[in-house]
Amino acid sequence: MTRRQCTGEYKIKPIKKQVRALLGYPYPARIPREVFVEQWVGISTDEFHRAKDADVKYMRNRHPLIDLGWSRTDCIRYLSSLDLTDTPKSSCLGCPFHGNAQWRHIRDTSPEEWADVVEFDAAIRQGNARANAGGNPLLGEAFLHRSRVPLADAPIDHVTAAELAALQQELGSDDYVAVLEEGVPDGCSPWACRGDADTLARDDFGLAT
Ligand code: SF4
Repeated sequence: MTRRQCTGEYKIKPIKKQVRALLGYPYPARIPREVFVEQWVGISTDEFHRAKDADVKYMRNRHPLIDLGWSRTDCIRYLSSLDLTDTPKSSCLGCPFHGNAQWRHIRDTSPEEWADVVEFDAAIRQGNARANAGGNPLLGEAFLHRSRVPLADAPIDHVTAAELAALQQELGSDDYVAVLEEGVPDGCSPWACRGDADTLARDDFGLAT
């Protein structure tokens, strides 16, 4: 796994840009202390440790599910009452934390999105274009799938012995089978990223003023 910048690049940076635009203070204008937006983030009580403050004063995070005392089970019960039983975990289409089940779901239900992630996977093979241009090329190649095979050909219908062995060594428990199939258990939001890449945003993008 390389350094993760996905949440910073694809979520926090555009959200901050849009919030600044909505407030009428595009970067690098200084925002008065009393001017801010309230942002609601859907962290449930069983993952309260992922609830964090925003890293800028012009955004204040609220966690309404925690305020309500709702767990993941409460959320599922509520969604079921609205006939929304198939609501998936939130995540980007091309998330490297997907398990095989999520990749198959995209492939088998949405050909356009599958083509998109296959193209994205091919595009990251040499790493970050900006890093390459800056003289910090990736040592090796990047892949979305744990097998390190191009997504279009990756073994998403079965788990290879090499994948199992690698993950068994990494996790050292029986969790590895579930991770290969279902991906990491948590969803992802800008201030509760699966990869904890959110902490990079402040330093990397100069948007935290
Ligand atoms: S879901 Fe989260 S960890 Fe996965 S690619 Fe998106 S921002 Fe990154």
